[in-house]
Amino acid sequence: KRLPYFAVGTVVKGFGRGSKELGIPTANFPEHVVEQLPDEITTGIYFGWARVDNGPTFKMVMSIGWNPYYKNERKSMEAYLFQETHIMHVFEDDFYGSELRVVMLGYIRGEKNFKSLEELISAIHSDIAESDRQLSLPEYEKYKDHSFFTEKS
Ligand code: ADP
Ligand code: MG
Repeated sequence: KRLPYFAVGTVVKGFGRGSKELGIPTANFPEHVVEQLPDEITTGIYFGWARVDNGPTFKMVMSIGWNPYYKNERKSMEAYLFQETHIMHVFEDDFYGSELRVVMLGYIRGEKNFKSLEELISAIHSDIAESDRQLSLPEYEKYKDHSFFTEKS
């Protein structure tokens, strides 16, 4: 895997995945940022660090995957790749249009389909706990102070 992987982009509106209603908001990168992902970065759940504009650096957990959608009324199916980041911090306000920079450091698991919303939510909570634990290890913690996060944007 091509880790660590650094990415920067403007936060855009996601497509009706309703993460905020589940208590787990995920900030989406625009298509041109997602397209830059190297092929070695497979779909699934990653952990790392994130910064919004010139704010502090926080732990994050990221999901990369394919979302199917109907392309037109003739119901031909297409899929778009998404890259969405949940930052482990409670923000006062949304930050659509802000600059989000992330470093992906480790891979937790592949994409999964869940039988129920409850199972999905509990999987996300365990991904967050696992990411939190890993990021406290010195080999991952040190990236918090990487020049990528200390430079002004
Ligand atoms: P969308 O479908 O637009 O991605 P979400 O319900 O996933 O909607 O909410 C994501 C938005 O919530 C982000 O774009 C950001 O503006 C805001 N937000 C607030 N707190 C967080 C957080 N801790 N992590 C990620 N996004 C957050
Ligand atoms: Mg989202």
